[in-house]
Amino acid sequence: MADGHEDDAGANGGLRPATKIVHSGRDPRRFDGFVNTPVVRGSTVLYANYDDLIHHRARYTYGRHGNPTSESLQTALKALEGGDGVAITPSGLSAVTTALLALLVSGDHLLMVDTVYRPTRNFCDGLLARLGVETTYYDPLLGEGIEGLIRPNTRAIFLEAPGSQSFEMQDVPAIVAVAKARGILTLIDNTWATPLFFKPHALGVDVSIQAGTKYICGHADVSIGTISAVGEAWKKVHATCGLLGITVGPDDVALAARGLRTMAVRLAHHQQAALEMAQWLAARPEVSRVMHPALPSDPGHAIWKRDFCGASGLFSIILKPVPPAAVAAFFDALKLFGMGYSWGGYESLAIPFDCSAYRTATKWQAEGPAVRLHIGLEDMADLKADIDQAFASLRAASQAG
Ligand SMILES: *Cc1c(COP(=O)(O)O)cnc(C)c1O
Repeated sequence: MADGHEDDAGANGGLRPATKIVHSGRDPRRFDGFVNTPVVRGSTVLYANYDDLIHHRARYTYGRHGNPTSESLQTALKALEGGDGVAITPSGLSAVTTALLALLVSGDHLLMVDTVYRPTRNFCDGLLARLGVETTYYDPLLGEGIEGLIRPNTRAIFLEAPGSQSFEMQDVPAIVAVAKARGILTLIDNTWATPLFFKPHALGVDVSIQAGTKYICGHADVSIGTISAVGEAWKKVHATCGLLGITVGPDDVALAARGLRTMAVRLAHHQQAALEMAQWLAARPEVSRVMHPALPSDPGHAIWKRDFCGASGLFSIILKPVPPAAVAAFFDALKLFGMGYSWGGYESLAIPFDCSAYRTATKWQAEGPAVRLHIGLEDMADLKADIDQAFASLRAASQAG
């Protein structure tokens, strides 16, 4: 299993990603030797003299424009993503919406993957539509075939791989090639893989988005988003954040930076644990199929293997058909897996899902109840035992029904 940290040195012998996230964006000499950049709270920044004031000549000019704490996280993420700059936003969703607002104007057409995170869809159908931007949803399995959906006013193509809840892979290089040939910008929500396991900019994607709420923070205690971009797209993202007044409080930024420092070891564990759990579940009689692109049996496996250098801790399963009461019995029996939204923290989670109500370019067909699992950092034997006893409750409730 690739772990993303072996053969990843830059062409000129640059540091590998796991080293970058430990060292980049820290300068202990600047802060009397303290390892971590301090949490700097502030709105007003005082200038040294009148001339500096009227020319905004200072490293920091105003709290909203950045401070040592935010700069530290941005520098570390920029080293990891390899783009021209990184913006920090108050949530993952705001990273998505700010990036789209930055790149699109009234009259533009957007191609949006049908398997995108649902609130992203709500933004397109709600605010973007109101602003005169039209969205067409496309099948995630379209590679270069996306060409057929392009119109003269198509300005951007948005990707998310693997797909939200259902884990379809996308042929990112094929889509990027079509986009580049026509001067269309590409954006990707890369929250699942993180820039440790998938490198959007290396494959030519212009904008790489993270719900930092998930693996960057890693402790279910912060909402934050990041937008890394290159070239013209970065200029627009940066300017739009300024125009909108996007800023994040320093405590949340510092928690995100703290999470980032340990992300490589956490992800290595999530990867290994989720794969082991996926294989274990695939062999269970209660399970119809497992959706996890790192499994060789997965339809997206070849693409995952070609383009990604790791897999994180989130995947889904389809259970064999059982009555609703048995599904409820399964969830209510879980003791270690929490029931709740979001993911990427140290703790395991389980939720039911059903994509049939809102997808439009694809038809969601599940032969049984669908469950999304996040495999946390608990002991694997305990996690398997928890699911095993919840399956016992499911079977008992099936027979009772
Ligand atoms: C959670 C998530 C988001 C949104 O992040 P928030 O911080 O909850 O706003 C966006 N995209 C994906 C893929 C997510 O999983």
